[in-house]
Amino acid sequence: MLNHVEKQVPLEGCGLLAGKKDRVENVIVVQNQAQSPVRFVMDPYEQLQAFNWIEAHGLDLLGIFHSHPAGPETVSVTDIAEAAYEVIHLIWSRTKGHWQARGFWIEAGLATEVSLQIVE
Ligand SMILES: [Zn+2]
Repeated sequence: MLNHVEKQVPLEGCGLLAGKKDRVENVIVVQNQAQSPVRFVMDPYEQLQAFNWIEAHGLDLLGIFHSHPAGPETVSVTDIAEAAYEVIHLIWSRTKGHWQARGFWIEAGLATEVSLQIVE
C-alpha cells in the first residue's frame, strides 16, 4: 500500500483491502480516476474486477484505502459524504515526508477511528 501511495504523489492513490473476519489478506490497487491531489474516484472497471476477484477467492471486502499526500491525517468531509460501503476507511497521510495510516469506520455521516494492528 505504502509503495503504491508513494508512487502516486502528488495525486491521491487508492485501493481495496480484502480478507476474512477482521484480518486483511490482500491489497488490491485501483487507479484513481479523478487523478487529483485532493480527491479519489476509483476506476469503476478496475473496482468491479477487484470485487469479482474478492468474491472468486471467497474473501470479503474489509476496507478501502486512499492517501492524502498533503494531509489531513483524518477522513475529509468529502470522504464521509462519499463513503458508499460499510467497511474500514484507511487513510494514508503524509506530513513532512512521513506517512502514517489511520483507520476509520464511517456510518450515518460520522467517522469513528478504529485501531489497526500489523500482523505477520
Ligand atoms: Zn480522503
